[in-house]
Order: sequence, then structure tokens, then C-alpha cells
Amino acid sequence: MQQKEFEETIEEVKTIKAITPKEIKKIVRPQFEANPELFYPTKVFDKFGFSRCKCPKCGAYFWRHTEKKTTCGDSNCEGKYSFIGVGTGKGAKGNKITYADAWNGFKKSLTSARVPCTAIDRYPVVARWRNDVDYVAAGIYCFQPFCVTGEMDPPANPLICPQFCVRFNDLDNIGLTGRHYSGFIMLGIQTFNYPDKYVFFKEECVEFNYRWLTEELEINPDDITFIEDVWAGGGNLGPSVEYFVNGLEVGNMVFMQYKYFHDGSYEELPIKIIDTGIGLERIPWLVNGTPTSYFDVFAGAFAFLAQKLQVEYSNDVWKAFGPYSCLLNVDEVENVDKTWEFISSQIGYDVQTIKKEIEQLKDMYIILDHTRTVMMVVTDGSLPSNVGGGSNIQKYHQKSICSVEEEQLVGQIRNGWIINDLAKLYGPFGEYKSFDQIIKQEYERWAKTDDDKKVKLEKLLKQRNNQLSIDDWIFAMSTHGIPADTISQISKLPIPGNLYAELADRAARITKAPEAILYNTVHLQETTNLYYQTPKDGKFQAKIVTIFSNVQQQNLPNIVILNQSAFYPFGGGQDFDQGWLTIQGERHFVNNVQKVGKVVLHILEKPLPNAVDTYVGQEVQAEIDLERRSILRNHHTATHIVFAACRRVLGPHVWQNGAHKSVHNAHLDITHFAPLSKEQEQAIENEVNKIILSAKQINKGFMNKADAEKEYGFRLYQGGIVPGNELRVVNIDGIDVEACCGTHCDSTSEVGWVRILKTQKLQDGVVRLYYVAGVKTIEVLNSEGEMINSLVKLWSISKTQLVEEGSKIFQEKKHYESAYNQLKAELIKSQLKYVIDGPNQRTIIQSTEQNPTAYFSEIGKYIQQLKDSKKGLLFVADTFIYGAFGENNFNVEELSKQIEEEGQQLKMNKQNKISVKDGKKTIQVNDVLTFSILGKFNKNKASKYLKEQGFVQF
Ligand SMILES: [Zn+2]
Ligand SMILES: [Zn+2]
Repeated sequence: MQQKEFEETIEEVKTIKAITPKEIKKIVRPQFEANPELFYPTKVFDKFGFSRCKCPKCGAYFWRHTEKKTTCGDSNCEGKYSFIGVGTGKGAKGNKITYADAWNGFKKSLTSARVPCTAIDRYPVVARWRNDVDYVAAGIYCFQPFCVTGEMDPPANPLICPQFCVRFNDLDNIGLTGRHYSGFIMLGIQTFNYPDKYVFFKEECVEFNYRWLTEELEINPDDITFIEDVWAGGGNLGPSVEYFVNGLEVGNMVFMQYKYFHDGSYEELPIKIIDTGIGLERIPWLVNGTPTSYFDVFAGAFAFLAQKLQVEYSNDVWKAFGPYSCLLNVDEVENVDKTWEFISSQIGYDVQTIKKEIEQLKDMYIILDHTRTVMMVVTDGSLPSNVGGGSNIQKYHQKSICSVEEEQLVGQIRNGWIINDLAKLYGPFGEYKSFDQIIKQEYERWAKTDDDKKVKLEKLLKQRNNQLSIDDWIFAMSTHGIPADTISQISKLPIPGNLYAELADRAARITKAPEAILYNTVHLQETTNLYYQTPKDGKFQAKIVTIFSNVQQQNLPNIVILNQSAFYPFGGGQDFDQGWLTIQGERHFVNNVQKVGKVVLHILEKPLPNAVDTYVGQEVQAEIDLERRSILRNHHTATHIVFAACRRVLGPHVWQNGAHKSVHNAHLDITHFAPLSKEQEQAIENEVNKIILSAKQINKGFMNKADAEKEYGFRLYQGGIVPGNELRVVNIDGIDVEACCGTHCDSTSEVGWVRILKTQKLQDGVVRLYYVAGVKTIEVLNSEGEMINSLVKLWSISKTQLVEEGSKIFQEKKHYESAYNQLKAELIKSQLKYVIDGPNQRTIIQSTEQNPTAYFSEIGKYIQQLKDSKKGLLFVADTFIYGAFGENNFNVEELSKQIEEEGQQLKMNKQNKISVKDGKKTIQVNDVLTFSILGKFNKNKASKYLKEQGFVQF
């Protein structure tokens, strides 16, 4: 019997077309605008003397303190920043601040507010606790999903935090607008209001922000405007209020109040959340009135880099340009050239002078911004990669950083300036020796031109006549992995201004794990979880709460919600349980189990036959498929052990990057620089089985989240964060500790035996290991044994001779192959000699080859002789014709046309010169003809036509 080849399990990623945040905002905006008292904190605006009006430029409703403010205060409507060169508030009185001062002032104001906030430490920028995003892009990401759904308490409430965030959608604007970054610090105010515990909401939030602006920063209320807006994201929705000072957006207060669904409806959330985000980098800029925020943020590093690169710049031009930098947001500008001309007319420098000034400093700001972002991301444990989140780091940051790495400036900038500035907010950074190594590796990767990618791109450019649509750009970037600036370099086309915005938009439209927006479970009772106490026979009873129609299966009713359930829903990379529900005496197979919010959906193989109402409240008998459960449990437990073994064998830089435990096998993705060698694979497998044999107890218990984080740190969240204020901590004594809600064995010995099937490098920086455990290992070993037995039988040898015999056969095969190739070359040689020395000018030789490659390599040796004798020949096989002529005197196109079968496309390739190796030299033979025609052709027509052309059969 043949060994069944190991098949990869195909991961099912369901994607649907979801309603985008943009679309839902458009639907609700008119409703919010028509009822400001209902949706916006109008009382506090009244209290502080603000009045509501409509912006004549953009049509937004906003609140102003003085009638002198005629527009909403957004720089788009105001036309410029009015604080450059003069400063704002305390800065205008001569009290300049750094960005650390800005945080300290904010902290002082908010921690002493009427409802005092607690300042917490930043979270890592690599979002290990989330499965849906790679990096923290806003302060609220730290508390999603479970603090937002109420399944977990936030670390403090209300809280403030200086969170480092990374974003990849504003890259075109960095260095240009004066305010955009790939990595920035977001001052957050987060408040969580529960039905039974109110903290504060809209009115107080506006008040506290206002007091910070006017009391701490001493800003004149006349300079402030509040704009009514709508926010949507992550399935939630609510009113938001942005505030502007002198043309600059300082903060945005988002009031998460509703949950929205794919049909555009929305419903009040039980927990109402405030998410306020303030760009810290903007505060010293606004207060000090420097030309751009980069002057404040990168002051020291900039001076260092300018000196190293010997860049000279004009302070006067920058001061004049600063107020108008807001006009250059490439997502919003329609005609860039006109904008430059407008700026020139306003400040009295000609376009060339301004552009030159801006462009040279822009590149330096990009380098500084990217260095800061990469340094934070790498410090927090992510490696540059060619796909996934790491690819953003690699794609967008590689080139600019590498451009200065030639002089090894990146490490100097990091160590000399960036970490010192950040340490004033975050405390000292630990030594990170690998940083320089990682930058060096990226530099080498970048410096090596990737010819393969270049060829692919050139082919695409040829197909498109050197014009690329936005789809082509995205295709080349995502499928061929070519960075945008490389495409631009090769194609000489400019990068489309909306490219990154379009990429971000597409990512938002395809939603992973859509049940959360397909099914509204907000109003349902929580499904009581029984799976940690599943009875030995796998049976339990429950009551039907409701039945959902399956929107992905013609709305047929096959989704059962129970009051309690022992079915394990898909989660933590572990596949769901299957089993049976006996409903009204009929046994139904449960095909899939998913959790949405606090509710478990049991998806039946077949829809229920009767009216949905008749099922509600009915008792059901449930039974779990225990065999499947046991395999999943073994694969899951093995994953903890494999991870621990990888860290032991490879080193502590190994983090879990993803995992999947199915009933066929399991895989674990780890962060690691290089593919694993066979020896490393074996060492990991040995380590795993050693741990299994040591029969370590696996302790599963609930711990207070704060205590657990304090004791074990963020390494708890290898498999993503789990809901609850109590963490379920799975601790394999001295081996591995993780927060995990999957199903586990009680002792490592129960896992049985683990066999690593194969490993592969998934992308730069990530390696995947496939393995099986328990009965699945026995299956694999059995099939390997069968394969050995059948070989032994086939070759009539004993098992001990197997390796020797196998290698003998392999050697012989190699020997025969080379002998065969030699013979083939001899045959071609004699055929060619016959043609050259024979009587006919044009000869046909029948070929038994599968393809013409054998002729390619031989023909060069004889082409000069063919040329001297002015002879030509054709090798004609079933599926190709290969021709070689000493003169360029044969019409290949005509031949191809003559012999083409109807509906069959023949592929043709021809050349009029050949490069021939002569000793060490390569010489070129011109004015000859070689060609190949590939595909099924009409043999009769071919022989008739060729006879007419004077060909003679060999
Ligand atoms: Zn406006
Ligand atoms: Zn686990």
C-alpha cells in the first residue's frame, strides 16, 4: 500500500462583503444632525458659552465661542494654520514645551479632574492580544475586544494613557503636512460606562478636555471650535466631537454608543464607551508655533542627521511655508501643482525654491519617523516580514531606513536621540542587541536586487503598455510582493496619491470572522459554558433560547442557541466541537459551533423542518463527538509543548505568530529568522517528547487578570487575549504558561507522542511547524511502517537493508540519467552532422522528445557550421517543432499559421542570434534563425506545407 501523502488542511477563512464604516456613517449622519440634543453634549457647550452653527465651507455643524470664527476651524476650511511663528496659549507667552511636558501637563489636568482619571502605562505596539490586527493603531485597540464588550474590566476606569500607535494609511503625507506619522503617540482618555456603574459620558468628557486646553495650556476659548461628527468602526457606531485650535485638529472624542449590523440598522450598546484620542506630537507644535510638528518631535535627531548628511536648509522658507503645510494632504488635494502655486503666491517664494526646501527635509523626516516606528515595533517583539503586519514594516520602511544604513546611522539615531526622548514618557528602554542585526539584515535584503520580481513586473508593464491601474499596483504589491517605490522606479510612473488609502479601504471591506456582524446577539442571555465540565459520556441537556436563520445559507433556520452548552466554539486557533442535538425526537448533526459575543451558535448540518416558534423553550438532548474532542485536545495541548520546545531549542526571540489545531493535524507559526534545518526539527521533536514523557501536570485555573499580567507579563497572550476579568491560566509547570480558554489534557503524558511532519518558512521572520499528536501520530507511524513493509516486499530485502538498497537505487538512477542524457546528445550530434554534411538544404527530423529543451543546449555548437553551409532543419515532434537555420530565410509566422488547428493557440518563440560559449569567451552568432512552435498542430498540413517549402525527410 502506498503511503497517504500528508495533506495540508485548508484553513477556512470566510469572507463576506460587509457594510463599511464609511457607508454606515453616511446613513446615520442626517439623523444625528437633525437631533443635536439627543446625540451631542449640547449642555456643556452652552455652559461654556459656545453656540452652534453650520460651516459655510464644508457644511458641518460646529460650536464656537466667538462670532469671529466664521468656519468650523478645520484647516481645510480655514485655509491655513494660524499658530505658526506665534504659538498658542502659554507658548504665545513664551513658555515653550517638549512632548514629555505635553504629556505631563495632560496627566496633571486629567488626574485631578472632577472625576479623576488614572494614568496607566502604554501597551506594547504589537497587538498580541488580538487576532484581527497586528499593531495598535489607536489607544482603544488595547481594550478591544473584551473590555468593549464588557467581558473584561479595563485596567483602570476612567483611564488615560500615552499609547504608541502605528498606522500605514497616511504614509504619503509624512514630512509634508507637518502632522502625519507612521508611528505616533496617542493620548487617550477611555471611559467605560456599565448599566450598573456610570463613570462619565459626553458632557463631562467635553468639560475635562476643555479645562485641559484652557487651564493647563492656557488657550483662549475663542481659538477653539468643536465639530459634530459621526464615528464608526469595529462594528460599533456613535457620535463624535472633534476639536480644533487655530486650524489644527487637536483631539477627537468618540462616544461608542451603538452596535451596527450588515443591513445598516443599529442598536444601543449596554456598555457605553468614550474613546478620546489626542495626537501628542501636535501639542508642543501648537503651543510653540514651530513650522511643523517634526521640528519639536525630532529636534535633536534632526540636527544630528542634517549635519551627517550635510543638508542645509532655510529657516525662513520653512517659517513661511508652515502655515500652509495643511493644504498638502494628498488624500484631499485635487490638483497638487495648483496647490504649490497657491502656496507660492501666498508666501512670496517661487515654487521651485519651496519644493526644493520641502523635498530635502521631507526625506529626512521620513527617515526619522520610520526609524522611530521600526525601533518601537522591533522593541515590542515583531520582525520585518514579507506578508501580514510585518510586511507593512518591511515594505514601507525598508527603503528609507536602508538609504541611511549604508553609513550605519540608524543605530546612532536610535541610541543617541529617539530612545532618550521616548524614555521621558516611557521610562528607560532595555538593551536590545538584536536591533542592529535586524536593521543590517533588512539592509542586505534590500540591497540585493530581486531579479525575479523585476521580471514579473516588466511582464505586467508590457501587458499594460506601461500604464498601471490602481488594481495593477495593488496586484504587483500584494501578489508579487514588490514595494511601491520599486514599482515606481522600474516603471518610471509616480506612486498614485491614493494608493495607501485604497489599500486600507480594501482591507476594511473584507471582514474576517463575520458572524459578529451577521448575527445580533446583544439582546440574548449569555450561553452558560459547560465545556470545562463536560460529562464523561459527552451528554448534556439544554433549552432552546432561539433559532437563527442562516444568512449564508439562503436564510434557512439551522442555527440553534441554547441556554447552556458543552460544545467548544471555534476559538484560540482550536477547531470547534461537533456532535448531535436531539430536537423534538429527531437527531441533528451539529456541523459547526461559533461564539458571537457571549452567545454560542450551534450550526446544524440540515435546517429544522418546522416553524421556528415551535422550537423556542424546548428541551434538547445534546451529545459531543468525544473522539473528535479528544484529538483536538491533544493537538491543542501539544501546541503549548511545541512552542515551549521551540523557545528552548531556538532561543527566547521565539513568539507565537499564529496556530491552528484541527482534527487532521496542528500547526504553529513562530517568529524566527531562518528556515529550520533537519537537525533543528529533530531537536525540537526530541525536546517535545521529553517534556511529554516527564508527565508534567497541566494546571488550569482562573487568576485575577492584573495579578496574572504582573506575574507572567504579555507572554501570557501567545494565543491572543481571552475574555474575562479572571484569566484562565494554563500552566505547564516550568515549561509554558499562557492565558488560554481551549481544552487541555491534565498531564503532558496524555498527549501521547508528537511527530513533526514538516516545517516551512512562511515569510521572512515566520516559520510554520506541522505536527500530529496522540492517535494521529500512531496513524502516521502506521502508514510510514506500511510504506516500509511494501518496499521491503517489493525489493525482496530485509528492513535493515532498506537504507543501503535505497541509496544504491538512487545512485543507479542518477547514473542512468546521466548516461541517457549523454546518449541523447550523441544522437542530436549525429543528426546535425548528417544535415550539415548531407545533400539537402532543408531537412526534417522526426523527434520523440517531450519538449525542445534538449536541442537548445546542443544547437549552439553547430550553428556556425549551419551558417557556413546555409542549411536549415526542423525537429518535428507531436507537440512542438524546433527549427534552426543558418540563414534568416524562413517564414516562421507563415508556418505557424498554416499548421494551426481551429481553436488551438500555438505558442511561438524565435531568435535571430545565438550566444555561443567558445572556451571561456561568449561569442554571438548573428543573422541565423532558431525558433520553437509549441502546442498541438495539424500534422498533415505540416508535412504538406513543408514539402512545398523544399524540406526532405531524414
Ligand atoms: Zn468646515
Ligand atoms: Zn491552550
